[in-house]
Amino acid sequence: MLREEYRQWRDWVYEHYPWAYALGTGVLALAAWGLCRPLRRRPAWVWGGYMATLGIGALLEPCVDPASSLYGSVLAHGRRDKPLVALTFDDGPHPHNTPLILEALAKAQAPATFFCLGSEALSYPHLVRAMVAEGHLVGSHTFSHRNLLGCTPHTTRQEIEKGLLALETILSRPPQYFRPPYGMRYPWTLEISRSLAQEAVLWSNCPRDWQEPGVETIKARVLAALQPGDIILLHDGGGDRTQTAQALPGLIAAIRERGYQLARVDQLERA
Ligand SMILES: [Zn+2]
Repeated sequence: MLREEYRQWRDWVYEHYPWAYALGTGVLALAAWGLCRPLRRRPAWVWGGYMATLGIGALLEPCVDPASSLYGSVLAHGRRDKPLVALTFDDGPHPHNTPLILEALAKAQAPATFFCLGSEALSYPHLVRAMVAEGHLVGSHTFSHRNLLGCTPHTTRQEIEKGLLALETILSRPPQYFRPPYGMRYPWTLEISRSLAQEAVLWSNCPRDWQEPGVETIKARVLAALQPGDIILLHDGGGDRTQTAQALPGLIAAIRERGYQLARVDQLERA
């Protein structure tokens, strides 16, 4: 039950990110003010702590913002003047979801990009091979989906290297594109991925399919925000993605009706 409430809270924060930041700042300011009311002068540490919290928040923003290249270049979208958009699928391969998604893509003759987890790839290597055989691009999403904001540079390198090695073992060549789990990265995360010849790919269109909000909602969320060059974030792993698979035929048709072509991430031209 608590878990469900946490999920709802987390999704609210995600959807209202600037408001959540402003609200958090307001609560902190009030707390700093209210806690010290009985004191004649607010001690310096209260203001110091408050300013430090604001500073840390500001420094962390480019680590979690999928569109920010402040801490290193990331591909969040392609050129905004070309009618190309890319479907991307994270957290797979998955024995139930991935075949459904591959089937929907094949029927629509739509290319896509899969950011696979090394651990899952080793469990279902035939699905990774099927992705490539069917014309899709495979990128890496680390080995075990650890949040890299909680990792030292050493562990970060291990997570990325292990993920790459798993995919290289299956495909006989390493992938060239990398997406950090949750899109979260420190400046050194991007340094490390670059040193391993990986281009970091984030996203610009996020329908939050992990909420399982219904087939029509997934489709509507993508279309409401759709712009040329968009990289659309979807998932084939991490839970039941039947809705995502079911949304694909209608979504792909609607995207094409609007005059866009689907492309793999490596076919998008950089903005
Ligand atoms: Zn992920």
